[in-house]
Amino acid sequence: MPTVSTLQAERLAAKILEATGTPADIAANVAHHLALADRSGHASHGLSILPSYLSAAAAGQLVAHARPQLMSDEGMLLAFDGHQGYGQHGVKVATEHAITRAREKGLCILTVRNSYHLGRAGHYGEMAAHAGLGYLAFINVVGRPALVAPFGGATARLSTNPLCFAMPIAPDRAPFLLDYATSAIAANKVRLMAAADLPVPEGMLIDSAGNPTQDANDLTGTPPGALLPFGEHKGYALGFMAELLAGVMSGGGTLASEESRTGGLRNNVFAILFDPGKFGQTSWQRAEGSAFADYVTGCPPAEAGMRVMVPGEPEADHQSASAEHFEMTRSAWDLFANCARAHHLSPEACLWPR
Ligand code: NAD
Repeated sequence: MPTVSTLQAERLAAKILEATGTPADIAANVAHHLALADRSGHASHGLSILPSYLSAAAAGQLVAHARPQLMSDEGMLLAFDGHQGYGQHGVKVATEHAITRAREKGLCILTVRNSYHLGRAGHYGEMAAHAGLGYLAFINVVGRPALVAPFGGATARLSTNPLCFAMPIAPDRAPFLLDYATSAIAANKVRLMAAADLPVPEGMLIDSAGNPTQDANDLTGTPPGALLPFGEHKGYALGFMAELLAGVMSGGGTLASEESRTGGLRNNVFAILFDPGKFGQTSWQRAEGSAFADYVTGCPPAEAGMRVMVPGEPEADHQSASAEHFEMTRSAWDLFANCARAHHLSPEACLWPR
C-alpha cells in the first residue's frame, strides 16, 4: 500500500483543483477535507473521490467557484444556499457562521440547500465539537437516482442520507462522534469495492430483481440494484427523517420528482448546534460524560483482541497517527495519482519517504 505525505498529498490535491479552475481558498478547503477523510479512516470520502468531482465540474453539475449565500437570518435560524459549489467549502463556511451564532445565542439551527457533495459529515461535527458545541445533523442527497431500498421494498427510493451527532466529552478525550450513512454501507465504499474487485459484505446489497448480492457492480448495473438500509426499519426511518428535515426544511427538496433524481449530486443539510454550557455546569458535564465513557469502555470484550470504543475514537486515533503520513490502498492511490497525471502534475512527489 503506498504511504503518502499528509502535507504533500493535501498540496497536490489543491493544485489539481486549482488547475481545473477552483479558487485557491476553496481548493485548500476541499483538499484539507479529503486528506482528513483518508486520515480519519474513511478513504471512501478521501482523495480518491477527486476524479468524480472533476468529472462533475466538467459536466456542469458542480460549480467550482460557487460560494455559499446566506438566504435567511432569523437569529437562531440560518439558511444558506450552496449554489452547487463544493460542500467542503460551502458547508464549512455555513457551519462556521452557525458556530459563531450558537456561541452567542446558545443554539443555532442551520440549513444548507443545494451544496455539491459535502464529503464526510463528521468533518462538520468535529468542527462544532472542537469549538465546544454539540452538533446534530441530518443530510439528504438529491440530483442522482435513489440508491437505498426502503424497508420492505425491492428497488431504491432513498439515498444514503448520513446523520451525524458530535459533542465534546472532556478536554482530554476525543469528542463523541456518530457519523454514518443510513444505508447498511456508504455508496462510496461500494465504489471502492468495485474498483478493487472485492465482494460487498452480506446483507447490504440487493440486485435489480431485489435478490441479495455481494457483487459491488450490481449497484450501478443496468437496471441498478440497491443498498439496504441499516437495521431494517430503523435505518429506513432515519433515512426518511433526513428527507423531511434536510430535504423539506432546507428547501433543497427530496427524491420525489423525476427531475430531483438527475442533474448532479446535491446535499442538503439540517443541523442543530447547541452550547452545552447553557444546560448546566461544565465541570459536572465533563465529569459525568467521562465517567460514562469509562463505564462503557470498561466493559469486558466480547472476543479476545477486541476493545469497546467510544464512537469518534476510531477517527481520532487515525487522525493522530497520520499527522505526517498515511497509507492509501493501491486502487485509491491509482485513482488519485492518475487524476494528478491527467493534469500534468507528478503524484510521486507525495510518496513517503521521498
Ligand atoms: P461507518 O459505518 O464507517 O461508521 C462510522 C461511525 O461509526 C463513526 O461514528 C465511528 O466513530 C463509529 N465507529 C466505527 N467503529 C466503531 C467502534 N468499534 N466502536 C464505536 N464506534 C465505532 O460509516 P459509513 O456509513 O460507512 O459512512 C462513512 C462516511 O461516509 C461518513 O463520514 C459519512 O458522513 C459519509 N457519507 C456521506 C454522504 C454524503 O452524501 N455526503 C453519504 C453517505 C455517507
